Amino acid sequence: MWQKEKQLLAGKMSALPDGKKLVRSPSGLRMVPENGAFHSPFSLNEPQWVPDKECARCMQCDTKFDFIRRKHHCRRCGRCFCDKCCSKKVALPRMCFVDPVRQCAQCSLASQKEMEFYDKQLKVLLGGGSFVATLGTSEKSETMMCRLSNNHRYLFMDGESHFEVELSRISSMQILTDGSSPGESDIHTYTSLPDTQYLSEGGTSRASGMLLHYKPMGAQDAQQLKVEAADDRKAAALWLAAMHKAAKLLYEARDH
Ligand SMILES: [Zn+2]
Ligand SMILES: [Zn+2]
Repeated sequence: MWQKEKQLLAGKMSALPDGKKLVRSPSGLRMVPENGAFHSPFSLNEPQWVPDKECARCMQCDTKFDFIRRKHHCRRCGRCFCDKCCSKKVALPRMCFVDPVRQCAQCSLASQKEMEFYDKQLKVLLGGGSFVATLGTSEKSETMMCRLSNNHRYLFMDGESHFEVELSRISSMQILTDGSSPGESDIHTYTSLPDTQYLSEGGTSRASGMLLHYKPMGAQDAQQLKVEAADDRKAAALWLAAMHKAAKLLYEARDH
């Protein structure tokens, strides 16, 4: 009996969603979730490499390849370059590479920008923030802790009740900012997601809330969730700015 229970438990353990495994691809060693369904929504798929026979010249500087000038593939975009144009090895956490990998100039720039998200904003999101949450158009709101789950797939909302929003089910996100005129704090400026300039760090406008539309699993209609900064407005603004950056990564990935 006991033995059987242990076996059952072991079976369950191996199916834990947070398990990771090492896989080797032509581009390098990657640490990926054991179950493909548990990929972080921020992750990108490895590109298909441009076939060798289709690239006789460097796609950046047009140098012709030969025995001396060898071709290299950029691990992020899969295009073909000479050593000079593809020499940088840069960390690429979105493709789960363990070590920095070879990237072209354009891609290494993009990857370097994303490092800030992984170094800073992602930690802020995982740490969570305190917000007043309102579901739908109800009058009732509740102070809740809002944080990104460890596998990056959900927003966990914890207060007297608990619910979660799956990031991949969010159809629109708006960051609300404080009204500009004093005394009119109820008036918010709505910023649409693609408008990335608005919420620049150190800018004059400060994020004070977020409006989400998402479709819960199995539901017909979109649900609305509004969160507004609770007591610590500075921490809330930081969390919202991190969420804004996360949304940019998610939407860019969807558009490609
Ligand atoms: Zn080149
Ligand atoms: Zn590239």
